[in-house]
Amino acid sequence: MIKSLLAKLFKDTCPACGEALISSRNSIGWTKTCPQNHYKEESYGVLGVYIVTKGSPRH
Ligand SMILES: [Zn+2]
Repeated sequence: MIKSLLAKLFKDTCPACGEALISSRNSIGWTKTCPQNHYKEESYGVLGVYIVTKGSPRH
């Protein structure tokens, strides 16, 4: 289902430690960060930019 695909793409928990991500919005977009800095998502809708930063990649 499309809905479950979206849920996978936009996780609200850190893939490394499973902690809930801290999300914050600002005037141009939003960021979601792991409280322990494993993972970070940034989206700037106005600029069409989406960035995912993983501190310690796992496969
Ligand atoms: Zn984490």
